[in-house]
Amino acid sequence: MPYNFGMHEPHRIELEGGTTLVITWDDGRVDRLSSASLRSACPCATCRNAAPPTALSIVPDSTINDMSMVGAYAINLVFSPDGHATGIFPFPLLRMLGEDSSHKHPSGRNEEQGSG
Ligand SMILES: [Zn+2]
Repeated sequence: MPYNFGMHEPHRIELEGGTTLVITWDDGRVDRLSSASLRSACPCATCRNAAPPTALSIVPDSTINDMSMVGAYAINLVFSPDGHATGIFPFPLLRMLGEDSSHKHPSGRNEEQGSG
């Protein structure tokens, strides 16, 4: 009998060129998470304690080198080029990142409004 926690599980997780993690969920939703956004959301203590959130260094050139399952609830990502491998990404976090990024504008830049 399947549990019913209202929690979604990935059916399929694929690495696309090392720069995009493509997650197909059990409800058919497909999320494409960039390696840079995953790196900036890395929940490990090293990344969380490295700097205040406003100064959190996002590594634009960061790519995903490897990926492995952690138990049945999370994946472990290995980032290039620094080999950072302590980030454990639980499925709910991945789901949240996917839903969050679909609400945002594709372009992350803030445009200043000028008059005249
Ligand atoms: Zn980390």
